[in-house]
Amino acid sequence: MKTTTIKPAEEIRKGLFHTPFWLAPEKEIFTERALRFKELAQADKSEWNLYLTLLAAVCETQHAVMSRHELTLTQLEPGSTVLPEALAGRVPSEFFEVFGDILKEVNGKITATAAIEVSKLKALNQEQAEALAGRILTRTATDQDRSAEIWVQAALQVIWTAWAMQLTENHVPPTEDRTLCPCCGTEPVGSVVLIKGDLNGFRYMHCPLCNSRWNVLRAKCPTCGNAGNMRIQQIDEKSAPELAPVYQGANAESCKSCHSYRKLYRQDKQQYADPVADDLATLGLDIAVGEAGFDRAGANPFLLLG
Ligand SMILES: [Zn+2]
Ligand SMILES: [Zn+2]
Repeated sequence: MKTTTIKPAEEIRKGLFHTPFWLAPEKEIFTERALRFKELAQADKSEWNLYLTLLAAVCETQHAVMSRHELTLTQLEPGSTVLPEALAGRVPSEFFEVFGDILKEVNGKITATAAIEVSKLKALNQEQAEALAGRILTRTATDQDRSAEIWVQAALQVIWTAWAMQLTENHVPPTEDRTLCPCCGTEPVGSVVLIKGDLNGFRYMHCPLCNSRWNVLRAKCPTCGNAGNMRIQQIDEKSAPELAPVYQGANAESCKSCHSYRKLYRQDKQQYADPVADDLATLGLDIAVGEAGFDRAGANPFLLLG
């Protein structure tokens, strides 16, 4: 008897007009992010630009460190995510080395205040550093962990991103629920509407940990999945013309069903928008949408609250 396997719609469309569900991290993700942080820091006339400049140094360091470590993906997860799920809190065996290398590499490139924190972290032994990483992965970090967070996050991003770069589209089949990263289960930090060829106009959610992107229909809320209740808000460029280069292309997409919002960046308006970097330069948009009664969905690993 002949049997026919029914292929998912995404696969049938391959070749003809293929909209990939999943996009691998861009090869130069950390270098590009560093450049974007520098640009955004230059445009910011407040003291906040010091933090954006620090993050540019962090991203440059991530690039250098990633190229020096093997970080081979040995096996895929049998569960609901393709890579180890972040929230499960299992600290990768490579973490301590990558973390130490980041702290060493950044030496001399940051302010004296940041360097004090870095030298404190350098003094941690493997057990202490791994316990700290575990708390950050499981979101049980304490107030004392706060200042360590960007450094730990930077190391975790290097590892998960290197893993995600070793995947192919076939490893990441389309999922029904698209509210979390299909690779590592992290909530998206924001989304981009692409301008590349066939993908022009498609919205891809961006994972702040493994830097994967996945497609979600634009009519649907990326938090609750409800369709038809989305609204878009922007900062009026005329009210702050000096910020136009930063806010151009940045939108807050809010949902009237679950009262959450997330930022969406239109590459046709701002080609170099990066959902992690641009998020931190457009906090005025968060204030405006927050005042309108919406809560932010999806954390930025470099935005330390409280
Ligand atoms: Zn991810
Ligand atoms: Zn919603």
